[in-house]
Amino acid sequence: MGSVRQASEPGAIAEAAGILRRGGLVAFPTETVYGLGADATDDRAVARVFAAKNRPEFNPLIVHVLDIAAARRLVEWTGEAQALAERFWPGPLSLVLPRLPDCPVSGLAGAGLPTLAVRAPRGAAARALLERTGRPVAAPSANPAGAVSPTRAEHVLDALGDAVDLVLDDGPCAVGIESTVVDLSGETPALLRPGGLPAEEIEALTGPLARPGDPDTPRSPGQIASHYAPALPLRIGSGAPESGEALLSFGPDAPSGAAVERNLSPSGDPVEAAANLFAALHDLDRSGCTGIVAMPVPETGVGRAIMDRLCRAAAPRPLVDPPDRN
Ligand code: AMP
Ligand code: MG
Repeated sequence: MGSVRQASEPGAIAEAAGILRRGGLVAFPTETVYGLGADATDDRAVARVFAAKNRPEFNPLIVHVLDIAAARRLVEWTGEAQALAERFWPGPLSLVLPRLPDCPVSGLAGAGLPTLAVRAPRGAAARALLERTGRPVAAPSANPAGAVSPTRAEHVLDALGDAVDLVLDDGPCAVGIESTVVDLSGETPALLRPGGLPAEEIEALTGPLARPGDPDTPRSPGQIASHYAPALPLRIGSGAPESGEALLSFGPDAPSGAAVERNLSPSGDPVEAAANLFAALHDLDRSGCTGIVAMPVPETGVGRAIMDRLCRAAAPRPLVDPPDRN
């Protein structure tokens, strides 16, 4: 079992950076979710991340960097990347760009693709860790492939405690939902995954983004139907819960009668709901209920990312444990 340290404890960041530099795995908090970090330039460390998560090797990892200067050492930077990063980094925005010919990042981290997703996270612990490590850090969400993402250290310990060398605990994640992924490697910028940064805010700078499902939008490897799934079956519905069902509610007008209920935001605030989403799903999963019914959330701003995650959590699950979920 990996150990846990408070990120604010003296020496904790230095210890975590040392583990990363020696090829170990460190789970660490970012403003989105807890990541399972490895030195992105170390093939063996990156391979351990895929193994720990049981993640298929065609599903590329996001590479975390401290700032624009560090990103520019990895990918072919563009004017659009500069404008977006100046505005939104550090923050929940991952940019997909062509790898530089001498990019030091492990090919496995990028799933062998000619492009790489890079992001500068906002969380203080993540930034201190990146600075101290002095290397790009590949980090997918610290959960088994296909399962609910972790927004607290205990979620990581429960699911992946044996696979990590250290969990840095810095409390709950502020944003609570994964980064928005934008592909800048093609002719038109494309939204590959809705996330913590609302697409509207990006479009104010870039103009309309191509969307998943548009004829010319590249498909994002890894964005597959069943994902973010709790162990219990989950359905989306606004009516009363059925007998034995737990209720994941939103807003002031939730139906009554659920055996167990978690309200993502009693005031109906999607930002608060995103921050609470995964912790609520982890809780309801352990509630002893037979299933979960989730109320729909309005699809504006980060609400779109919440509905993306709920729809994938509700999607039919593969019969056997598939090799194709992250
Ligand atoms: P996760 O690490 O679980 O947050 O997932 C990262 C997601 O980012 C992947 O599943 C892909 O959808 C996307 N991604 C990462 N790298 C690339 C890339 N080079 N091209 C397109 N999408 C990417
Ligand atoms: Mg993930």
